[in-house]
Amino acid sequence: MTALVAVVSCTTEKKAPVNPFFAEWQTPFGVPPFDQINDGDYIPAVDSAIALAKTEIASITASAEAPTFANTISSYDRGGQLLNKVASVFYAQAGANTNDSLKAIEMELAPKMSAFGDEVLLNAELFRRIKTVYDNRAGEQLNEEQLFLLENLYKSFVRNGANLNTEDQEKLKKLNLEISVLAVKFNQNVLSETNDFKLIIDNEADLAGLPESVITNAAEMAKADSLEGRWVFTTQKPSMIPFLQYADNRDLRKKLYDAYLNRGNNHNQYDNNQVLADLVRLRADRAKLLGYKTHAAINLENRMAKTPENVFNLLNGLFSRSQKVALRERDEMQKIVDSEGGKFKLEPHDWWYYAEKLRKAKYDLDENELRPYFSLDNVRDGVFAVANKLYGITFTRIENIPLPHPDAQAFEVKEADGSHLGVLYMDFFPRESKSQGAWCGGYREHRILDGKEITPIVTIVGNFTPPAPDAPALLSMDDVTTLFHEFGHGLQSLFAANTYSTTYPAQDIVELPSQIMEHWATDPEVLKMYARHYKTGEVIPDELVEKIKNSSYFNTGFDNVEIMAASLLDMAYYSLEAPVNIDVQKFEKETMKKLGLMPEIEPRYRSTYFLHIIDGYDAGYYVYTWAAVLDNDAFEAFREKGIFDQATASSFRKNILEKMGIMDAEQQYKNFRGREPQIEPLLKNRGLN
Ligand SMILES: [Zn+2]
Repeated sequence: MTALVAVVSCTTEKKAPVNPFFAEWQTPFGVPPFDQINDGDYIPAVDSAIALAKTEIASITASAEAPTFANTISSYDRGGQLLNKVASVFYAQAGANTNDSLKAIEMELAPKMSAFGDEVLLNAELFRRIKTVYDNRAGEQLNEEQLFLLENLYKSFVRNGANLNTEDQEKLKKLNLEISVLAVKFNQNVLSETNDFKLIIDNEADLAGLPESVITNAAEMAKADSLEGRWVFTTQKPSMIPFLQYADNRDLRKKLYDAYLNRGNNHNQYDNNQVLADLVRLRADRAKLLGYKTHAAINLENRMAKTPENVFNLLNGLFSRSQKVALRERDEMQKIVDSEGGKFKLEPHDWWYYAEKLRKAKYDLDENELRPYFSLDNVRDGVFAVANKLYGITFTRIENIPLPHPDAQAFEVKEADGSHLGVLYMDFFPRESKSQGAWCGGYREHRILDGKEITPIVTIVGNFTPPAPDAPALLSMDDVTTLFHEFGHGLQSLFAANTYSTTYPAQDIVELPSQIMEHWATDPEVLKMYARHYKTGEVIPDELVEKIKNSSYFNTGFDNVEIMAASLLDMAYYSLEAPVNIDVQKFEKETMKKLGLMPEIEPRYRSTYFLHIIDGYDAGYYVYTWAAVLDNDAFEAFREKGIFDQATASSFRKNILEKMGIMDAEQQYKNFRGREPQIEPLLKNRGLN
């Protein structure tokens, strides 16, 4: 191993300038030296890293010693560190700061990474050693984490084809490779389609109904596009949603919403219909080859849900409850349309506009009244304060540290006793180089290496409402809960207590740490802590807090219907048995028809831009709902004892946040709650009971 490292450093000495991935990073806390990394560094770094990782595997399989946990599992876990180092920076940058050259590299890396992954997972000698350790596991004195790692590692090799014959393994490699390339293509197409459409307004009358701040933002967008004097709206949510909520011009609302809905479905070079059809077909073929009925069956095996049937039961039950509520919401809105003399039936692009009117009429609440209390800095400091009250941790801004993008901010996170816990980056605003949505990622994950603790470097990326020239970024309620959500993922990474870097979190518990944080975001006690007027510093008035509380069931039918519809669409694709041959538009339409989805609501994501179901949440969009059962039930534990109860917080940290991926998820939950999760709190909190 020492010799190998020497080879790598030799190569770098010849090169000038040095590829930063081959050096120890001399930065504060060892964060990536973003300012020194050039696009051209990635491919050579990945190539060397893969070569190194291969030799690491070879040294395990060449061992003459009988396989043990130490010489096989631990060594396997130690390998690939350089590859992790390069990949974590590359994929974070490709998601948040991409450009044409990174897009090309991403495309070039997909087959390389896929081929390397298969080379490891289909390495017969490596699998033989892992299986031997697994079969002999009772004979070694393994602790709980080691046993969990071993069992899951063994099963993941089996699930990924280790037991197939050579001919089938070759077929599998080919399928994996095709899938990996298509997944990148799908992602890049969505970004291009999102950036391509602009609703340009040059007639001021078409802005009627829009709040001043929304108009100012649209004028800024136009300026940035050299369209001075006009107004630009995009399909990015911070731009689109206010337009849908407030613009009186119904035709333009339709135009913008249709553009959003048809991303990837415009019969151009970025069309995703065939890409998705191929992905679904290949994944079904892959499942069959591996001896499973469907792709969903593979993905669910290792999760809390266990089978597609369990997922369908949960989703279908919630869908019918939700649609009953949504139909009532629709009828209430139709009444407004009729009373205003509108001679039309409510359509999907009308929903936000009339929902806002309904909110005003029913709860006397205008979402725009809230924004001044939700300046980004206040919300960010609010979530820090919540974490401090729960876990005692503190956040200190770091000024002189490399940033992944000039807009990003960095914080040092410390335990109550002042010891270092990790680094947290936050990068808030939309830009064309950034993917849609919000996420939490990392540049370095927690582990223990040679007795030394490696601390995490976490990043939260969002597309929140940007600042205007005369005002700070004033967030929507949705932005606020999203920020709390992603921060919850961040906390989990910061508190991770794993020894080994190979962890196996059941995906349907992963959204528990994030979604539970949303409950604090809107709690009256917490609102009083952070929601202050950005101009006057005045704490949010009781009357507004009361209105937020009263309107907690506002639009709940719609929210749940669109999520259930999207979750069921995902499950429908991946419940298809090979051979699959579908027309995506037809399949989506038929699936929604079979479900009985009301025509006034579209699934939360339509097929050709449903990024979740491409990589990571394929047969997995349901996990948000699965985890919602958990987070509502778990938050009840806080409600019972007080939302800042120290014993409950400490148990949540110890049993849930620290143990993610290193012990059985059901057991984790039971250890925290003292019993199995119950669905009633979710039904109650969403007004579906
Ligand atoms: Zn999440």
